[in-house]
Amino acid sequence: MSAIDDSADAGFEFPDPAPYPVPVMGLFDRPFWRSVLAQRTSLQKCDDCGAFRYPPGPCCPECLSPQATWTQLLGGGTILSWVVFHRQYLPAYPAPHAVVAVRLDEGPVMMSNLEGEWPKNSWIGRRVRLVHHEIPGGFVLPRFQLVDDERSAEI
Ligand SMILES: [Zn+2]
Repeated sequence: MSAIDDSADAGFEFPDPAPYPVPVMGLFDRPFWRSVLAQRTSLQKCDDCGAFRYPPGPCCPECLSPQATWTQLLGGGTILSWVVFHRQYLPAYPAPHAVVAVRLDEGPVMMSNLEGEWPKNSWIGRRVRLVHHEIPGGFVLPRFQLVDDERSAEI
């Protein structure tokens, strides 16, 4: 496959005004956020070694290949770390709200909010799934929800 072609994303704009903080749009982020908006969150998968990479970038951190294909995530992951904010910093994030660092099944670590039920015991090692959270203004954020899985609860 060819290197990432960003030309197909010309004209893609975030809804304005966004009621939530707008993502920082670096050189390689637009295809990622476009896939999130389409609720098909995708990451770059190296065409040479198969490694997924996140955040998006110009080359594979494993083999330095610049060739990659945007590939939709399966949606599974495991909580590596977490924090609960008991203070409200932004209007769109009332306290308490949880932020989790998730090891995606594809390999990279992604941080986002944990929606819905929180773990009653240890959070570390619990299985989560990626969900697409629509917010006012037609905006979409990738978030996680706990998977009610007895196997993960035993970890
Ligand atoms: Zn690679």
